[in-house]
Amino acid sequence: MRLGIISALYEEQQGLVEAMRGPAKLIHGMREYWAGSLWEIDAVCVLSRIGKVAAAMTATTLVEKFGVTHILFTGVAGAGDKTVRVGDIVVAEALVQHDMDASPLFPRFEVPLTGLSHFQPDQQLSLRLSRAAHDFLELDFLDAISEGERHTFRLAQPRVHRGLVASGDQFMDDRERLDGLNKALPGLVAVEMEGAAVAQVCYELGVPCAVLRTISDNANENAATDFMRFVKSVAAQYAFHITRRVCRELKEAPLQPSSVSAGT
Ligand code: SAH
Repeated sequence: MRLGIISALYEEQQGLVEAMRGPAKLIHGMREYWAGSLWEIDAVCVLSRIGKVAAAMTATTLVEKFGVTHILFTGVAGAGDKTVRVGDIVVAEALVQHDMDASPLFPRFEVPLTGLSHFQPDQQLSLRLSRAAHDFLELDFLDAISEGERHTFRLAQPRVHRGLVASGDQFMDDRERLDGLNKALPGLVAVEMEGAAVAQVCYELGVPCAVLRTISDNANENAATDFMRFVKSVAAQYAFHITRRVCRELKEAPLQPSSVSAGT
């Protein structure tokens, strides 16, 4: 297995690159790809930058040029529902591009000529991810996040949610727009800007993927407040510890060959 790890923002991935054994940097298409070993798993880390095109380009390159066999996206997201709170963790069960609308030619959200609006991540990898997320909250959380930060961001008892993640080329900071999306997309738990693009690429290339998001904001008018502080001091820790747990488990118990068929 060769695991590709994508994040959108530098702060989200810095710790992983630092933890890499024998890192080798390769620059391609205006991005830095770091190949090496993460807790004995062969891995390639890269920042996609923000948005669906950037993420799709990065995922494609990881597969075609770096030969990754699995992709993990870790990053932050806005809450897609009132039951999801800042500091909670979301593991995608399905991903949709919320700004895709070719109606009336195709149903709203459907990616034309694929017949699909919802893309499914790999079940095995997603299960590993949610287990690692639960273990992180139970075993690492209090040590990993300082009391000050827990207080500042009111991280009382963070939870793990599985559900629908919606991606679009827009930072969601408007309550009404979010309410509209929430109504149109049952089961919505998070809004972000990359996951569904990665999921589409992985579907088309037959590569298993999984998406992990730490909730950084409520996707409303306050969404930008303290955003970078949260990413640095909270989300980066979540991503680091959860990825560490996933890699260790992948080493101990490799995944079964996936049922995803390889693309042509
Ligand atoms: N203020 C930031 C912009 C980050 S854009 C800056 O100055 O750099 C937001 C990033 O976090 C994207 O990668 C997206 O996937 C995720 N994200 C977090 N909250 C979001 C929200 N409310 N709406 C959309 N994307 C969000």
